[in-house]
Amino acid sequence: MGTKVLKFGGSSLASAQQFRKVAEIIKSQPERRYVVASAPGKRDSGDTKVTDMLYNCFRLASKKEPIDEAFRLVEERYNSIIRELGLDFSLEEEYAKIRMAISHHAGEDYVASRGEYLNSMILAKYLDFTFVDAENGVFFKEDGTFDDKKTYAALGALLEKEAYAVVPGFYGSMPNGTIKTFSRGGSDITGAIVARAVNAEIYENWTDVSGMLMADPRIVKNPRVIEEITYRELRELAYMGATVMHEEAVFPVKEARIPINIRNTNAPEDAGTMIVPSSLSAGPKSVITGVAGRKGFSSITIEKSKMNTEVGFCRKVLNVLERLGVSFEHMPSGIDTVSIIVSSAAISDKKEDIKARIFRDTYADSVTIDDGLALIAVVGRGMVRAKGTAGKIFSALGQEEINIRMIDQGSGEKNIILGVEEADYERTLQVIYNAFVPEDN
Ligand code: ADP
Ligand code: ASP
Ligand code: MG
Repeated sequence: MGTKVLKFGGSSLASAQQFRKVAEIIKSQPERRYVVASAPGKRDSGDTKVTDMLYNCFRLASKKEPIDEAFRLVEERYNSIIRELGLDFSLEEEYAKIRMAISHHAGEDYVASRGEYLNSMILAKYLDFTFVDAENGVFFKEDGTFDDKKTYAALGALLEKEAYAVVPGFYGSMPNGTIKTFSRGGSDITGAIVARAVNAEIYENWTDVSGMLMADPRIVKNPRVIEEITYRELRELAYMGATVMHEEAVFPVKEARIPINIRNTNAPEDAGTMIVPSSLSAGPKSVITGVAGRKGFSSITIEKSKMNTEVGFCRKVLNVLERLGVSFEHMPSGIDTVSIIVSSAAISDKKEDIKARIFRDTYADSVTIDDGLALIAVVGRGMVRAKGTAGKIFSALGQEEINIRMIDQGSGEKNIILGVEEADYERTLQVIYNAFVPEDN
């Protein structure tokens, strides 16, 4: 029997009603054996994720304010799920331990991780699966990076003993035993790690949309579902803002060539999106696979005449950024100018320092920093063959009088990155989407 690993996101496990859907999905196939659970997410748009409630408890405790009321809200979320599922089960002892730890200044990651810990306990009880704590199977190294060797050995051995298990997402242990979380949305990574540890035939990532969509559904109306996407395309779209899956979740499964299937808990009959190595792909149906973007970038533009003939110019500029601990996203250049695109948050308190050091190290004619840039990635392995993709984008944006502030095209031609004013961001996504997807579809 093959093994399937399933990860359910916060909205899939936000209420008793959602737990029932999840159980039905899992129980419908005996090979659905290992389940990774997130903390309860939002039940409706006005709701708060349990993870955010826990971060709030941590903040209160660090300001030495009482956490009773804030933590009671967390308990209520879980108790209502337990009650409505009719489970003969209590988390009171766990609550007491966690409340005590928070008041005694437990670390932020520990506090946040309890969201998935408690939810996984309920899910394991409801499914009659074994609860396997990620604390004993997912490990980080001293420097905070994921310890793949230790994890796959430990987690593989733990899960080998269990025919059916629930593992909490989002966290693992540091070498000294303290809890550390991945970045937000990190249960997707745990799902991929579990899939790799048990060498699953597939990693099913269950969420609240019927797959990866060609554009963010909160901006573009009814975008098409991407039936098949390669790991690489997914990572580019995820990195640039298609938040349906954490961009780091592809690494563990990619190496083992385990496909990912993004599915909808609220519409399990939909096939969703298959994420595959490019070699297994049937080939793209359309020129572009998807478009995604993010706001919050700045450009550092440096001008100097005859810059193009000066050996080592860019190295000097990048050295300045390196010394200030700033990483860069893109670096489009002309004959006498170069622009470096960075996250605005990374330079907000360093702007004067950056300018001064670049002047000093490069004798530039001018250095200017402009905020308010949004980056948009148009991604598609079909772009390699189709001619005129860039032209199509530019003419569509030109017609709408949207000013392009930056262009960067990867040499692999699998993506085109555009920079536009933040105010034009939503409109740009829509215009690009419309340029490639016929309206009557
Ligand atoms: P989960 O709680 O299941 O992990 P997330 O909220 O993290 O789910 O991710 C799913 C959400 O991602 C969707 O509800 C959607 O609003 C958003 N999203 C943004 N871009 C895309 C995209 N290109 N395709 C699908 N969903 C997207
Ligand atoms: N619960 C965590 C978060 O809200 C992890 C996750 O949902 O994947 O970020
Ligand atoms: Mg998520």
